[in-house]
Amino acid sequence: MKPAVYHKLHFRTKEILGIDTKMLEEGIPFSKAVRKFLKWCGPDPRFCTWGSTDLVELQRNMKYYGMLNLLRGPVFFFFLQKLFGLVYEGEKTARSLEYAIKFLDMEQEGDFHRALNDARYTAEIFSSMPVETALKNYSIDCYQNPRNKKEEIYTVFDNYSKFISREFPSKEDAMRDREVTATKCFLCGRTARKKVRWFSVNPKAHLCLAWCPEHGYFRGKARLKKTDEGKYYVVKTLKKIDKEEADSVREKKDALRKKRRQKRHQTEEKA
Ligand SMILES: [Zn+2]
Repeated sequence: MKPAVYHKLHFRTKEILGIDTKMLEEGIPFSKAVRKFLKWCGPDPRFCTWGSTDLVELQRNMKYYGMLNLLRGPVFFFFLQKLFGLVYEGEKTARSLEYAIKFLDMEQEGDFHRALNDARYTAEIFSSMPVETALKNYSIDCYQNPRNKKEEIYTVFDNYSKFISREFPSKEDAMRDREVTATKCFLCGRTARKKVRWFSVNPKAHLCLAWCPEHGYFRGKARLKKTDEGKYYVVKTLKKIDKEEADSVREKKDALRKKRRQKRHQTEEKA
């Protein structure tokens, strides 16, 4: 693809991509490439990416060219890096595409980090996956986040539920919203009462512990996301956990409280 905004590549990028500026200038312009690509995709496509930010970059660029209306978000997709971890390693891992190809003993032809090669490798890995696992564990890209209540998203997976809120002017407003802070058991629909109220783990994440009399403990996690326009929305997950994991949420809160108290003492002593 031919670059329009930055015509010079960073030397490190050149090194990774193994291409130079001249090769890029021979490409086709972004807007034309995107139109061609979306036409090839057909109506209602499902995307599959290895990295977590590919769709963000695509949409950010489309926005720059005023053509984001061609791809309405939030965009549902298969996040292959996550699926690879779930299927082959039994947990969430963050492996490189190269690692996965070697792991699966797939034939390597062509360099990595070249769009077409990487796309082909990604497709090959995806086609080796059990369909059920993939379909059950889809992801939602929220570069085009929900704007209003009507657009909010609520989905239930095997052992957790996910809620993506509308946008708020500030983090504080977001964490004050009733819908954001609610902890509803996704198995029976009743309110799971909070055993530990929402507390911040870091500026971007809050945790809580809730309990349903019928279904036990749930760990709530609220991640605050900032939009390009400086607004905030929340991705909240409610995961079914056991007693041990519930204890570790409590411990985490206590540890944070102690740490903060210590800090306060230190600054008071200094003053
Ligand atoms: Zn329940």
